[in-house]
Amino acid sequence: MNRDLYPQRMMNAFGDPQLVIDRGEGVYVFDEEGKRYLDLLAGIAVNALGYAHPAITRALTEQAGKATHVSNFFATAPQLELAGAIQRMLSDDGYVGASARVFFCNSGAEANEAAIKMARLHKPRGTIIALKGGFHGRTLGALSITHKPAIREPFEPLGGNVLFIDPTIEALEAAFDDDVAAIFVETIQGEAGVVPLEGDFLRRARALAERFGALLVVDEVQTGVGRTGRWFAHSGIVKADVITMAKGLGGGVPIGAVVGIEKTGRLLTPGSHGTTFGGNPLACAAANAVVGEVAGLFEHVRATGEWLRGHLEARGFEVRGAGLLLGVVVENAPALQTELLEKGFIVNAPNATTIRLAPPLIITQDELAPFIEEMETHS
Ligand SMILES: *Cc1c(COP(=O)(O)O)cnc(C)c1O
Repeated sequence: MNRDLYPQRMMNAFGDPQLVIDRGEGVYVFDEEGKRYLDLLAGIAVNALGYAHPAITRALTEQAGKATHVSNFFATAPQLELAGAIQRMLSDDGYVGASARVFFCNSGAEANEAAIKMARLHKPRGTIIALKGGFHGRTLGALSITHKPAIREPFEPLGGNVLFIDPTIEALEAAFDDDVAAIFVETIQGEAGVVPLEGDFLRRARALAERFGALLVVDEVQTGVGRTGRWFAHSGIVKADVITMAKGLGGGVPIGAVVGIEKTGRLLTPGSHGTTFGGNPLACAAANAVVGEVAGLFEHVRATGEWLRGHLEARGFEVRGAGLLLGVVVENAPALQTELLEKGFIVNAPNATTIRLAPPLIITQDELAPFIEEMETHS
């Protein structure tokens, strides 16, 4: 397919595409000339099982032969199975999973939209605290809690009552009062450049939310479903009231979820929210396959992530993040991204000085070795 067709046919929302990708296999993608690339970005932390994984292909094929969509007037087995799997993930991570309730949607932004509506229902007209550096999506509600001025300000006025604060304990203490309905946090700010928040900050946010009757909403859209070597990046640090998920959940099939823990699971009632596609059986079947595979990968993700990090640090790089979500500090990230692509490695540059690595969770040391060798020449 001629790349010149892109500007003739597509809106210029993403700039020029870097490649036309024809297909993928495992951790590699191939362009139309058959050139192979090691995909260290995985569709932005989405393709947890890489490309053409037999478990996903099988689940999609089987479900496509039964029903791809039925509307939310009806329930399906894949949907209830996935909600049960999410409850079990929560139980694995120290929650009472059976007390949680799930709402399915199609993306991370939509999951956060639902969470914002839950915050409004929880405390009508309340303030929502969001963090500088935070990213929650591009739809108007999600954008209203996304800090980056360059992407938010052209679309103002957005939903009101959002207070952006620095991720510091002092800022938290100054911001909280009885009017606060919710605080939205990421455990690791992915789009900001893979920036982990301090555990003390998250614990104080939890305590203040408790004291002022606000919800702690943890956005696990990028970090969830095994990306950091556990189901949720925040577990072991704090307990959330609401969790949003998307990216890795469907392994490349669009699906998002918002999870309400205990009483927050009852905030949405008939009429308060809806979606046509959300939770459809095709997407849920894919997600069930992903969750089934990822459950066996935690040790692998941790060990491979640590191995990769160790090799990069040994070559003088500063590395942030956890598991297989890593930010490597470099001098000129956009230039290095372009150079790496030419050499057959897909990464991205969430900011000017960070290369983000979020490869398929199935990636092995052998597959990573050529990348480490290449990085040697850039250290
Ligand atoms: C990607 C991302 C979103 C938005 O997800 P979309 O599926 O692009 O709408 C929200 N929150 C975080 C933390 C993300 O990384």
